Amino acid sequence: MLMLIKGGRVIDPGNIDGIMDILIDNGKIVEIKPQIAAEGSSGLQTGASETERGKVSVDRIIDAGGKIVTPGLIDMHVHLREPGYEYKETIATGCKSAACGGFTAVCCMPNTNPVNDNRHVTEYILKRALEVDTVRVYPVAAISRGLQGKELCEYGDLKEAGAVALSDDGNPVMDSQLMRRALEYAKGFGLPVISHCEDRDLAGGGVMNEGEIATRMGLAGIPNAAESVMVIRDIALCELTQSPLHIAHVSTAESVRAIRDAKNRGVLVTAETAPHYFTLTDEAVEDYNTNAKMNPPLRSRRDREAVRQGLADGTIDVIATDHAPHAPIEKEIEFDLAANGIIGLETSLPLSLKLVDDGVLALTDLIAKMSNNPARILGLESGLQVGYSADITIIDPERSYRIEADSFQSLGRNTPFEGWDVKGRAVLTMVGGKVVFHDEHFV
Ligand SMILES: [Zn+2]
Repeated sequence: MLMLIKGGRVIDPGNIDGIMDILIDNGKIVEIKPQIAAEGSSGLQTGASETERGKVSVDRIIDAGGKIVTPGLIDMHVHLREPGYEYKETIATGCKSAACGGFTAVCCMPNTNPVNDNRHVTEYILKRALEVDTVRVYPVAAISRGLQGKELCEYGDLKEAGAVALSDDGNPVMDSQLMRRALEYAKGFGLPVISHCEDRDLAGGGVMNEGEIATRMGLAGIPNAAESVMVIRDIALCELTQSPLHIAHVSTAESVRAIRDAKNRGVLVTAETAPHYFTLTDEAVEDYNTNAKMNPPLRSRRDREAVRQGLADGTIDVIATDHAPHAPIEKEIEFDLAANGIIGLETSLPLSLKLVDDGVLALTDLIAKMSNNPARILGLESGLQVGYSADITIIDPERSYRIEADSFQSLGRNTPFEGWDVKGRAVLTMVGGKVVFHDEHFV
């Protein structure tokens, strides 16, 4: 089947930026150029048509005029909750949510039940993802058995089963010797280690950012240092082992500075942050809003500014969501007891596009942080090039709407952005040439 995406502003960071047509044959990109003469029916319905001399007869033409056409967005930090917590999210609902948010691929964290610390769980996730057949799912397997931080998993087995990275996300690896061994062992299999940087002793029983607001609210705080001491430790271990390290969900100014310094020294470290860290501060917690409770916690204005600066100067390579769905019963309770985390797949794109409006990032840099950069870190194919799989996102940058959690595909409703008026959304998401989501107003 031949398909043509016509007249959009095609952006493949570092490669293409211009009004182009993209011709897709059997799920692969076969041609990209300013004008591809073609005939066929518009929209998503297929239909034969008479062809004039010199024109390609295509089955579908998608008019992308006024839209942005990008490599499929990749979210490298998502909790799909299956197996074990299907009441929070399933692979099916999580993948639908991803497609709706413009993502063609997600990496799912291993803190399921059972934990993804062996090939059977990795294989189960991949099998379910194939059955669901929506977006690509790349499992991240555990660094240590049961996420306990005591014993390493079998990385060769996990890699062979399809894991693309290793992380104990949700838990830090407190034992520095074990973390060193993990980096050394992972290096042999070409698996990046994704670190959830948190010193549990320093974090203590904290439930929000340490500072004036926590004091006023009578809640125990988590100091910035709980994150940055582990970032600094892991950078030291990365230097020692020369093994690729990726820092998850950067939230503090001190972490940004440490990563920037390390990168300047040539250390093999990369980093991500999430939309909530460059959008919100701990002021969002002021009415004991459990939908603003997460780990690491929302920080101060100074930290938010540093995270934005880190994105702007390239210190932070990736925007990931840390999509963490929970059931209402886990959030509609006392702040101290509420679960950590918020959903993000269906709000990430408009919140991230705001960085372009605010002058923090050029559009092409933003696209890189949401597609090419995570792909590079994980060794995945990404980009709009002839011969590549047609994983493509079409974005309407001008669409204004209100965020309403009840309309989400995710089972989760735990978002602090409910009722926000935002601009920009994915109107079509395509994986391997198959349309997995389209906005009804678009086609
Ligand atoms: Zn984490």
